[in-house]
Amino acid sequence: MQALPINSLNSSATVSSICDTVTKIARQHGMDENEIKRFIEPKEVIRLRLSPRLSDGQVHHLSAWIVRHSDTLGPAKGGIRMAANVDESIISALAMEMTLKTALIDVPFGGGKAGIRVDPHQLSPDDKQVIIRSFTNLARRHIGPEVYIPAPDMGTGEKEMGYIKDSIAYGEGHATTRGCFVTGKPVVLGGIPGRHDATGAGVVTTLQCIAERMGLHLDRQRVVIQGFGNVGAVVANELIKHGATVVGISDVSGAIANPNGLDMQVVNTYFKEHQQLSGCPAGCGIDPEQLLVMDCDVLIPAAIGGVIDASVATNIKASIIAEAANGPTLSEADAILQQRGIVVIPDILCNAGGVFVSYLEYTQETQRDQWTLSDVQQRLAQRMCQRFDTVWQTATAPQRLREAAMGLAIEHLHQGLISRGLLT
Ligand code: NAD
Repeated sequence: MQALPINSLNSSATVSSICDTVTKIARQHGMDENEIKRFIEPKEVIRLRLSPRLSDGQVHHLSAWIVRHSDTLGPAKGGIRMAANVDESIISALAMEMTLKTALIDVPFGGGKAGIRVDPHQLSPDDKQVIIRSFTNLARRHIGPEVYIPAPDMGTGEKEMGYIKDSIAYGEGHATTRGCFVTGKPVVLGGIPGRHDATGAGVVTTLQCIAERMGLHLDRQRVVIQGFGNVGAVVANELIKHGATVVGISDVSGAIANPNGLDMQVVNTYFKEHQQLSGCPAGCGIDPEQLLVMDCDVLIPAAIGGVIDASVATNIKASIIAEAANGPTLSEADAILQQRGIVVIPDILCNAGGVFVSYLEYTQETQRDQWTLSDVQQRLAQRMCQRFDTVWQTATAPQRLREAAMGLAIEHLHQGLISRGLLT
């Protein structure tokens, strides 16, 4: 499948945008340049070269990275991204976002991220498994409950997390691992019920919270979603359950729209069969570039970073943006959205449900306990609402939720550094 040119934005714009925002907010909180350096620069960057032999009989040389951005509050936590365009700087920026996210959602984790530069859409399931096992073997000494705990991100999911656990246990000659080395794995291998849906469910909870605060009804909202993977598909299906109307949706293959609402049953069945949205009869095919500026009330970027630039921000029709993806809005666009009065639920709050439930999975495995789905759903909804309320109350205006969320995260990290005796 050919990746679309749309949104294949250069990663450096996304990276510098995230760094600019963190620097600005840290300065607003009175931190000096020495302190800011700790928030911007990763603590450790590991570069790996994988050389797996794939089903074509050839050895393929692939670059991979693990970035431990911060371990101030605990072991580095963050997903493994498999994509053709990952590089050290984008993985570092995503690791920094994880540091802020774990601090904001208040779990004892630091921030990390891993990336493998390969297009997952071009791989057979067997080749994908070989690559993940090759990554795990090479990265083994950098992964562990006290060091870095991976999870799914773009291009990886539950299956891959299962292979990671198996590779590590097998390498030790044991049936299982001692403690939690990876989250987001299948329940049958010690995963936690509800982890797969957690990020999407958390996104929907933040939308419920904001609707309540703004006197809106979710069942009257017309929604557009970019991305139909682990996160986007859950968000779409959950929102339908809440009575919202999904009027546009896209994946890497293309975008479809229906002003009267897409029948999600048709979408789900088509996607199951074809593994892509392009050609789905639930709606008309539209130019993917037009999706983000379609007429709607709520826009949910749930794919890649950097998709909302100044020009998109100027033309967006939605009055609320829920950042399910990491880093979808560039800083130049943020200023425009603010001026236009568009309310943005920032990524470090909006999509933090996944890492929160990962923390529950970590404690479940560490304590050899078993959680039920309803326990997990209840804890997730409670934490998302509680953190949303804190951000909302801290923000000086509904259009300034990002500043409030980042400010709270940076202050929490600052306290962590002081408590460790690293700052006075
Ligand atoms: P995924 O790989 O399961 O799905 C990604 C989706 O985006 C797919 O539908 C893909 O076709 C689509 N996509 C890729 N490139 C695109 C493009 N150029 N234009 C339009 N669509 C495109 O990934 P995911 O786990 O759903 O992650 C989506 C986003 O959410 C990422 O930004 C990720 O970092 C973020 N996120 C994921 C989790 C999680 O638990 N999986 C947690 C927090 C944040």
